[in-house]
Amino acid sequence: MLKVLKEANINNKIVLLRLDLNVPISQNKIVSNFRIIKSIPTIEHLIKNNNKIVILSHLGRPKEGEVDEKYSLKPVALYLSEKIKQNIIFEKNWVNGVDFKDSNIIMCENVRFQNGEKLNSSELSRKISSLGDIFVFDAFGVSHRKESSAYGLIDLMDSYAGQLLENEINNALMMISNPVNPLTTIISGAKISTKITLISKLLNKSSHLIIGGGILNTFLFALGHNIGTSLFESDYVDEAKKIIKHKDFEKLIMPIDVVCSNNNSFDNPQTKLISMVQSDDKILDIGAKSIDKYVDIIKKSSTVFWNGPLGYVEQEPYDTGTVKIAKAIAISNCYSMVGGGDTLPIIEKLSLIDNFSYLSTGGGALLKFIEGKELPILKKLGAYT
Ligand code: ADP
Ligand code: MG
Repeated sequence: MLKVLKEANINNKIVLLRLDLNVPISQNKIVSNFRIIKSIPTIEHLIKNNNKIVILSHLGRPKEGEVDEKYSLKPVALYLSEKIKQNIIFEKNWVNGVDFKDSNIIMCENVRFQNGEKLNSSELSRKISSLGDIFVFDAFGVSHRKESSAYGLIDLMDSYAGQLLENEINNALMMISNPVNPLTTIISGAKISTKITLISKLLNKSSHLIIGGGILNTFLFALGHNIGTSLFESDYVDEAKKIIKHKDFEKLIMPIDVVCSNNNSFDNPQTKLISMVQSDDKILDIGAKSIDKYVDIIKKSSTVFWNGPLGYVEQEPYDTGTVKIAKAIAISNCYSMVGGGDTLPIIEKLSLIDNFSYLSTGGGALLKFIEGKELPILKKLGAYT
């Protein structure tokens, strides 16, 4: 049984709270507040019970051991402080001790500035553990990693799962073990290599598995189509061919048409049937007929799981397929679950957050969980027993 915070009677303690506040920041402004907002219930629960909190998080991928202002958590501390209307002390040098002064909350600078964090140094974990009495883990997005400020603390401290983690696990479990059928899964994004296991697992459970993105291109190549200069992974063509031979292959839904750019210019998008793609075309989105076909399937679904943009969303109009699919899921009555570091921001940008049943803060961790892999931190917190 998962050891959950809300069932433990924790008060008047110093709690080390590991969050995933890895949010996009531009010119000191938070571009996406989703992970911050989702972390608030656990913070409020701890404060309500008279605890003091030391918040730990990573942000981005700085060079370990070096302080790089670009990856500072300071803007996050300021933002969170405003949101919860509490003073938060931001500690740059925290690893040898912290001082709460007149505040109940401290946020430590990016844990990835510390030497040893990514290699799960036990020396670093030991130092961190001495900053508090209790450890609460609420950073679902790093559940699959072994790092000093998360995995490394669990054996050293009395540890619990926070509310966000509990919600993530419950929703993902419901999606994989008990979905209301028909279940449609949409797996897209850049690389088939990161999602091939997920595709084979979900093909089995799903009524339809919709494909888009760079992943689609690898499948089209494996099926013998010309994909021109499109993004694809040659090392994974054989894996794609295995899926093509899978008994459930007819459930894998391919587009009818695609939108291509030509000769490295984005200026002249052309919609083409798959069979009409030429050697100097680059497939960057699904076409209008495919969107209609995918939307029809979504309308008939009771559960939809979506991960990954269906096209090159960074450049208009190649975001069209993704935007239309997002809107179709948003207006449908199905139970909808979405995850993925590049998928969530699209929903946020369209202001559709409240139109989905569950938006996960996890990317890689969520996919691994759904694949059925044991995530090391969840295992230590008792999720699999
Ligand atoms: P997520 O983080 O949500 O799981 P991924 O990281 O797998 O998603 O993929 C996101 C990236 O895939 C985006 O940067 C998007 O531009 C890219 N992408 C999707 N389709 C294409 C395509 N046809 N060609 C090039 N890039 C694509
Ligand atoms: Mg991504």
